[in-house]
Amino acid sequence: MTQTAHGVEFSQQFSANPKSAEERAAILANPGFGDHFTDHTAVVDYKVDAEGKGGWHSARVEPYGPISLDPSAAVLHYGQEIFEGLKAYRHADGSVWTFRPERNAARLNQSAHRLALPELPEEYFLGAIRELVQADKDWVPSGDGESLYLRPFMIATEAFLGVRAAREVSFRVIASPAGNYFGGELKPVSIWISREYARAGRGGTGAAKCGGNYAASLIAQQEAEAHGCKQVLFLDHYNDDAVEELGGMNVFFVLKDGSLVTPALTGTILEGVTRSSIIQVAKDMGREVAERKITLAEWRDGVASGEIAEVFACGTAAVITPIGVLKDETEFIGSEDAVAGEVTMAIREQILGIQTGTIEDKHGWLTRL
Ligand code: PMP
Repeated sequence: MTQTAHGVEFSQQFSANPKSAEERAAILANPGFGDHFTDHTAVVDYKVDAEGKGGWHSARVEPYGPISLDPSAAVLHYGQEIFEGLKAYRHADGSVWTFRPERNAARLNQSAHRLALPELPEEYFLGAIRELVQADKDWVPSGDGESLYLRPFMIATEAFLGVRAAREVSFRVIASPAGNYFGGELKPVSIWISREYARAGRGGTGAAKCGGNYAASLIAQQEAEAHGCKQVLFLDHYNDDAVEELGGMNVFFVLKDGSLVTPALTGTILEGVTRSSIIQVAKDMGREVAERKITLAEWRDGVASGEIAEVFACGTAAVITPIGVLKDETEFIGSEDAVAGEVTMAIREQILGIQTGTIEDKHGWLTRL
């Protein structure tokens, strides 16, 4: 047993078959994204007792491996699942840090609320991350732009058929060494407009990070890839084609006066941790930031007139990625020859610098693991 700094005890069962130092080195030499996983996983289970009282229990670190689930487990039928994504960064002195994990803990609980899953006390969220990274710290890469991607998730494990909130749930964290999300250099990406499919609707689950949102986005993502695009843009078709977000990233516009615009949080898009951090960093740089409705027509006209100088996407995985082209069968906005914009790059450098410890963390965004 160890007592974590967060006051929650995790029991530890270390893997009898961890990857050898050579195997690990071979993976870390070319980590890719989401292809390889570390030797351990952190788990906390939840159960509602006979009196109807729910509680988290059995916090533990155990070897990474398949999960044993009853075939009737609720998650397999009704999709009662939520997840998070954040990264651990190795700083130059070898120490390992994560970025605003309390925001992910809070967002997990917002998602939990929407999906009728139990909320997880923050100390369990932070404790699980810390314990897992402690167990697998040799897996945190140190190369430029590399990190250990952490994937917390919560699933309904109770065995029953029937549409109601499960009374048995499991919270888990897995970790995967990560290189550059889009592979290699920072080239502006092309984005496909989803005309037929929506990601979210009013009153739906768009603001939650639940597996079902991503399942629903895959067909649009396939369409995007079939047209040579890296990501898909979702619009609100019932609200003047207002720009929502990409399949896994938020969107920002840099106007010619140097101010920024990003779609407002209306309940149908995810409140990205990167998005919030960019808003703060841009304000720190003396820029104005508007969170408001911005339509596809405004994007088209703004790029044509020069009112919109730069467009970029942001999220934990890809940090900040310039958008070069937005298109579909009838639309072509931007240019294939676009290069990363100056403001985009300046903000990217700030965020990455804070995350990797080369720029002062004046907001206290880093947590040492
Ligand atoms: N939107 C969606 C749909 C996402 O999946 C993500 C990634 N979590 C984001 C935005 C960006 O969020 P964050 O900056 O917290 O990674």
